[in-house]
Amino acid sequence: MAQTVKRAYKFRFYPTPEQAEELARTFGCARLVYNKALEERSRAYTLEGRSLSYVESSAALTAWKRTDELAFLNEVSSVPLQQALRHLQAAFANFFAKRAGYPAFKSRKRSRASAEYTRSAFTYRGGRLTLAKMDGPLNIVWSCPLPEGAEPSTVTVSKDAAGRWFVSILCQDTIRPLNPTGEAVGIDAGITALVTLSRPIRGVSDADGKVVNPRHERADRRKLARAQRALARKEKGSANRRKAKLTVARVYARISDRRRDFLHKLTTSIVRENQTVAIEDLTVRNLVKNRSLARAISDASWREMRTMLEYKAQWYGRELVVVDRWFPSSKLCSACGAIAQSMPLNVREWECACGATHDRDVNAAKNILAAGLAER
Ligand SMILES: [Zn+2]
Repeated sequence: MAQTVKRAYKFRFYPTPEQAEELARTFGCARLVYNKALEERSRAYTLEGRSLSYVESSAALTAWKRTDELAFLNEVSSVPLQQALRHLQAAFANFFAKRAGYPAFKSRKRSRASAEYTRSAFTYRGGRLTLAKMDGPLNIVWSCPLPEGAEPSTVTVSKDAAGRWFVSILCQDTIRPLNPTGEAVGIDAGITALVTLSRPIRGVSDADGKVVNPRHERADRRKLARAQRALARKEKGSANRRKAKLTVARVYARISDRRRDFLHKLTTSIVRENQTVAIEDLTVRNLVKNRSLARAISDASWREMRTMLEYKAQWYGRELVVVDRWFPSSKLCSACGAIAQSMPLNVREWECACGATHDRDVNAAKNILAAGLAER
């Protein structure tokens, strides 16, 4: 059965100098409103023991706009300011539900600069998106088309640490489940290979089932390490340090963009080709702490990949099984069930007493699949 989901499409865009200025001002006002409302709510909470509602914060905003010193809030679209109050409301709801810590102030330097526009504050017609208070549409790089007849409900504009502008457009989308298949696959998260599959998928893995990091990854990581070393040598507060910081942010942004792209293709293929996908909950296995950069990037990839598998499985009518108990996936023979005595990390292939020879990672992926199917 087809289902309707909300789906965000993110594109890069290039603002005119006037648009950039208007957006920078809007970001600043939204941040100020958020921080000021947070201050008031904190005061009401600590002094009077009561929590302010969204309606009260909104009334306060109206009052601020009437004062001389905050009259400049009237110069930007009122919608992103209202949305900032809604975000604060959500942050408090999460805090009271013990899902998050106490809301923090937004900082000009450390917080993501963004502004959210709802339906009344933008127009979208014939592939042109125009925001309130702007006289022309945004120059968007449409890297993929919006779904046919899409009705955007929310538009979020942001600028990242590397100075790039993005617009994220939330649309209703209809997703149809894929035809069922009898196939199942287990996935082992590795370090040498990005992941290993219990059975190879053509166009995705090699003949053994290994999915290696994309070719550009190694060069990108080298560049990142070099940029980080350069940054460490720069004097604090200097102009050169600011420049070096921007370089690090740019390299990092490129790595994560390319990685996300790669992971999207990978997870779509895995979900398309298999009815059941079994993965391991890595918090169980991450007993060995390894603080290397390579490891940090692998871990981030894995988390991102798991999220993608979760929602794509749900979209397309597939099943994702997460094995969350620890078991010796590398030492267990997937053919006979015997457990090998020891399995140092440098052993990539081994032979069991039963005569089966195993690639370490493929064997682990097969065990994860078996554990997932048993647990289901
Ligand atoms: Zn065996």
